[in-house]
Amino acid sequence: MIPVNEAIALVLRHTSKLEAESVEPGNADGRILAEDIVADSDLPPFDRAQMDGYAVRAADVASTPARLRIAGESAAGAGWHHEMKAGQAVRIMTGAPVPEGADAVQQVELTREENGAGFVEILEPVEAGRSIVKQAAEIKAGETVLRTGEEINAAMIATLASFGYAQLKVGRRPRVAVMATGSELVNVDEKPGADQIRDSNNYTIAAYATLAGATIERLPLAGDDTEELKQQITMAAGQFDVLVTSGGVSMGVYDFTKAALKELGAEIFFERVALRPGKPTVFARLGKSLVFGLPGNPVSVAVTFNLFARTALRAMQGATQPEMIRETAVLANNLKGSIDRESYLPAVLRTDEKGTLLAETMKWGGSSDFVAFARATALINVPAGVKVIEAGTKVKIVHLP
Ligand code: AMP
Ligand code: MG
Repeated sequence: MIPVNEAIALVLRHTSKLEAESVEPGNADGRILAEDIVADSDLPPFDRAQMDGYAVRAADVASTPARLRIAGESAAGAGWHHEMKAGQAVRIMTGAPVPEGADAVQQVELTREENGAGFVEILEPVEAGRSIVKQAAEIKAGETVLRTGEEINAAMIATLASFGYAQLKVGRRPRVAVMATGSELVNVDEKPGADQIRDSNNYTIAAYATLAGATIERLPLAGDDTEELKQQITMAAGQFDVLVTSGGVSMGVYDFTKAALKELGAEIFFERVALRPGKPTVFARLGKSLVFGLPGNPVSVAVTFNLFARTALRAMQGATQPEMIRETAVLANNLKGSIDRESYLPAVLRTDEKGTLLAETMKWGGSSDFVAFARATALINVPAGVKVIEAGTKVKIVHLP
């Protein structure tokens, strides 16, 4: 049995980065940057009006009302490119360039334009600089604004588009095959017969793998039969970057997945982790494919996939932060740890009236209780050897994707 952090380190050591590919900003959400994003212009590119109103010289409107001659109009996309003189004002719109000679914009609500007379009355003084964003105040041309290895989110799309990245480089999506094993399994559209259950793991794994940026192919359900498993594993290993199996890795008489991997000569990096749930997790390589042999219990699948396989999938795309986000929360209820294993227990997060982040464990029916797990948003990480943690104690958590 190896500790969880050593298992994650092994995953990272044996995972290599895939090549980069180009995408448009509209398809970049969730992808990992494979190049730095550099500003190709100052932002704003010119001194920009932040309000609709009048560009003025602050000194001209120190005492109000002040009557100024309207010298012209500066609109967004059609600026007024002359020098504005003392005693003058320029009608200006949000997003338009502020003319030379002006040093403030007075908002339109604090002005009164004389109908057709070519004059405006400024009703309140305005200090120099008001409602103007100076050229390059936000970003200077040449500055790096997003870095290789960052995950692109919706908030970043404006940056990509504004600096002209019609195409940008991101890590290629890993190709993942998922294979559920177990002679008791039937497909979701079938009615389970005596002693049978529907496969859910293939769907869970596909969902999390998609969130991690991978493309997914579901292989046919495999029975507990070493030859059948060997055939499917061999086929997948030749075609996919990663194979994720579930079931057949514990110590049962019918646990053939591990046996099949060994008979095929897979290089096994670990096969037992000091983890609850998820002890019998296997990590191996066969040919060019990484193989994650996850246990069969649905909650173990969610935990071990996100600790290990997700980390690999994101590292393959070049993520600088491949692991789940770790944080601290305050435990809302007492919970039990395990003597020899680290626990990652499903939990919901909420905030109390003081603003403290609380983590509350789900009603724990064990690693098979996927109905309880359905509302989990985080996992509480309890170190090995800790028997009981009392409510009110600070605990480490990871956010589920
Ligand atoms: P195993 O790891 O193969 O011993 O399976 C552990 C438990 O998980 C057993 O109760 C299995 O029936 C269940 N299980 C295995 N595979 C799946 C699956 N694909 N979907 C739902 N439950 C499963
Ligand atoms: Mg099984």
